[in-house]
Amino acid sequence: MVATSCAAEGWQVSVAKYKDDKACAISYTFDDGLKEHYTLVGPEFEKRGMRATFFINGAKINQDDEHVTDTTRMTWAQLRELSDRGHEISNHGWAHKNFARFPIEEIREDIEKNDSAILACTGKPALTFCYPNNNKKAEGRRISDKGRVGTRTFQRSLGSKSNDKELAEWTRRMIATRDWGVTMTHGINYGYDNFGRTPQRLWNHLDMVASLKDSIWVGTFYEVSAYTAERRATSLGIARPKENLLLVTPTMRLDSSLFVEPLTLVIQGDTPIRKLTAKQDGKRLTVTLRDGKALIPFNPNGGVIEVKVK
Ligand SMILES: [Zn+2]
Repeated sequence: MVATSCAAEGWQVSVAKYKDDKACAISYTFDDGLKEHYTLVGPEFEKRGMRATFFINGAKINQDDEHVTDTTRMTWAQLRELSDRGHEISNHGWAHKNFARFPIEEIREDIEKNDSAILACTGKPALTFCYPNNNKKAEGRRISDKGRVGTRTFQRSLGSKSNDKELAEWTRRMIATRDWGVTMTHGINYGYDNFGRTPQRLWNHLDMVASLKDSIWVGTFYEVSAYTAERRATSLGIARPKENLLLVTPTMRLDSSLFVEPLTLVIQGDTPIRKLTAKQDGKRLTVTLRDGKALIPFNPNGGVIEVKVK
């Protein structure tokens, strides 16, 4: 089901494909809880106003600075800091158990143990999942996918083989095709598929993406998963009881306790919109006018949106 795009006597009302009506979305994901994700990746993203997703294995995370068993991995306190600063910390299996190689009860334990550890560490549930070794065996998925807003089923490597030119082409293609790009990175200066001690390639790419922020939504894997799933499951009922009044009723067919991200409503008229106000459930909504269109974040689980066009 696609989100409704409805013409109500000269008005077009729809849900933007991506948040704030950006042309495309990119989610940067980093696997296995490597220490440089904390020392380098987190700060480099934050410098550019971006956030990333870290898929971690609890079994490899160090207890604290005094009890370090693997110097290449983060500590729980470092994960907590990343989470507090707005990054997503999510589930990649407690001990990275490949679904194809372990009995299902062991897989269940592995997933649940990591969920509990992440919740205890960050105070936030892991609402996405990344398959160990990217193995998506159906029997395992019946457990791993439950209660999530999304799981990583596609990705492109961002690492040893990446260069400025190829990354620039990929970025432009994302915008042109209005696609959602999901990257997968492991090592930075060391570790699997690392950047060969020239991580500058990654930071250069982030600079380019930051310069295109009007077109690209850099969202965590959770944010973009939730938005795209909600959009697909939302339809809009539209009425125009008065000349300057639109009533937009959202209906979303997903679990409203799990899917809570706001969506972006787009309103266009025959002529550019100059002034417009919107209210939902008694609260004034923020309206951004861009290119003659009105962009309005709304709650897809909420009530009727009253839109007054001036
Ligand atoms: Zn992994």
